[in-house]
Amino acid sequence: MSETIFSKIIAGEIPCHKVYEDDTTLAFLDINPVQPGHTLVIPKTAAASVWDLDPTVYSALMGTTQKVAQRLRSVLAVPFVGEKIVGVDVAHAHVHLIPFSTVADYDARPANDEPDHASLSAMANKLAF
Ligand code: AMP
Repeated sequence: MSETIFSKIIAGEIPCHKVYEDDTTLAFLDINPVQPGHTLVIPKTAAASVWDLDPTVYSALMGTTQKVAQRLRSVLAVPFVGEKIVGVDVAHAHVHLIPFSTVADYDARPANDEPDHASLSAMANKLAF
């Protein structure tokens, strides 16, 4: 399995704005968020896509996804948290969790600006559990 930006995050070679971690999974903020609190949940084992995961790891990934979604909903006081699986840019399995209030917010395009690490760090401090 080739190295990706996410495998480097798991290995601690590059930093992330961590929200949650356990033995099998890791959740951290997307550096180019669609909405504040946009979080990625990944398995620590390498697989190019969510659909390639061993069923046990897939279940663990979905378990963490639910926990993190509940956390986003309560801390950010949003009515909804959307889940997306895209995977066209990074070939390491991941789930997007996007807190939102309106469909327009959920469908918004990310800003594609330089990452705002100060606000990402403040958000991660609020969300981490
Ligand atoms: P996709 O593979 O299409 O699901 O998109 C990959 C997502 O990963 C995009 O939303 C990127 O903004 C995000 N991303 C890429 N590099 C990083 C990184 N170093 N830390 C956090 N998120 C990242």
